[in-house]
Amino acid sequence: MRILFAGTELYPHVAVGGLADVMAALPLALRDLGADLRLLLPGFPALLQAAAPLSPIRQWPDLMGGGARLLLGRTPAGVPVYLLDQPTFFGSGPPYEDRADTPRRFAALSWVAALLGREGDDGWGPHILHVHDWPVALAPAYLAFEPGPRPAALLTIHNLAYQGIFPKTLLSDLRLPPEHFTPADLEYYDQICFLKAGLVHADRISTVSPTYAREIQDPSKGGLHGLLASRRRDLVGILNGVDAGVWTPSGNLHLAFPYDLDRLDRRALNKAALQRELGLREDPDALLFAIVSRFAPQKGLDLVLDILPRLARLGAQLAVLGQGGGALESAFRAAPRRFPGRVAARIGYDTGLSHRCYGGADVILVPSREEPCGLTQLYAQAYGALPLVRRTGGLTDTVLDPDDTRPGGPPATGFVFNEATVADLAGALDRACARYRSDPAAWRTMQRAAMSQDRSWDRPARAYLDLYHAMTARSG
Ligand code: ADP
Repeated sequence: MRILFAGTELYPHVAVGGLADVMAALPLALRDLGADLRLLLPGFPALLQAAAPLSPIRQWPDLMGGGARLLLGRTPAGVPVYLLDQPTFFGSGPPYEDRADTPRRFAALSWVAALLGREGDDGWGPHILHVHDWPVALAPAYLAFEPGPRPAALLTIHNLAYQGIFPKTLLSDLRLPPEHFTPADLEYYDQICFLKAGLVHADRISTVSPTYAREIQDPSKGGLHGLLASRRRDLVGILNGVDAGVWTPSGNLHLAFPYDLDRLDRRALNKAALQRELGLREDPDALLFAIVSRFAPQKGLDLVLDILPRLARLGAQLAVLGQGGGALESAFRAAPRRFPGRVAARIGYDTGLSHRCYGGADVILVPSREEPCGLTQLYAQAYGALPLVRRTGGLTDTVLDPDDTRPGGPPATGFVFNEATVADLAGALDRACARYRSDPAAWRTMQRAAMSQDRSWDRPARAYLDLYHAMTARSG
């Protein structure tokens, strides 16, 4: 099975969200299962460097606004990778900053994905073109607009909140046939929508959890739900895995006291170290909550600000690691002054500190309003920090509350609350505190259950491979 993966991130070289982890880990897991996979990514400087040496494959004097070359190299993990080298598009700046050439940058990448999908390269042609998120979602449309043989196309939605919507005046610049600008095709309220084009033209659609696959068909979830519902037979949810080589408490260089299931007592040492590092009162009995998150509205962190007084009354502590600007960032910056020794905040992106939060905190808070899959709750579980999450998307599929267990069924692995309200969050917080105080043995049992869960990429990789086989069988 030959597969071309097209996307815009690759951990650790270009990483904005969970997509980067998937683009790095899933190809390796598929390769372990015998798949012959190649990547297509933008020629961001970090990627050009990581994939060297590079050989030129094709070039275009003008690809939607400038000369471009297609280069072939290998990732440090040995996966062949095509890079679209177009310095004005990809030579500088963060991957998704809002700029005038955004639609042309990603349309060009999508167009090359379709071309490579159709024509292949030097005898290598994919059976499957697997594209990830809106920046490459035009690729299945470009494939469909050309006659002749083509690979089957799979579009994976990592986050429906980002759709790529641009003015219709760009149609010809983006090499999109005007006759396809209709509400059943590329048009979305008189604009071009990249993600919609992909949803219409991909043979199959996947997203990153079974619950999110259902939720995005619901009218309350905003645009595109009707189209997603109409394609529900072609839509599947496959949970992301976790790279166990990176996200493990044993042999972990970021932790002062690495540990595993057999040395769980060492967590207490990491907790004390984290309390010291952050200026929290060094108190083994204080239930230590932590947040590791972007400060985006979908993460529901405003609810946490409202329960700080309660948290302090309960004798608990909170460590916050996050960034994202805006009112939330200022509020979290100010919170430690109101609750000295009880609340600490580090504003910024700090991978080492994120490991120490997972390895030292008792509970990781993930009160998201929406969460396609979510990684932080999975990392928390791997480190024996119990996630406290809202019942939404992938959080629903990965965290089991003690109140939701049944005899003989799977064990509890965290705490879950229902509505994105202060009352519901406070209820779960009370339950977590009560259990921590009154039943340490039960807490320990939950930690062990959480740490023992299967989070490997092998399972999702098999699910994708089954899907690819079903797609090629159908398209002949
Ligand atoms: P999203 O992709 O919506 O941001 P996920 O839970 O899927 O949410 O992935 C978040 C990832 O980013 C996790 O690996 C988490 O550890 C990491 N992360 C988020 N904020 C920070 C931060 N401030 N410092 C370090 N890592 C962070």
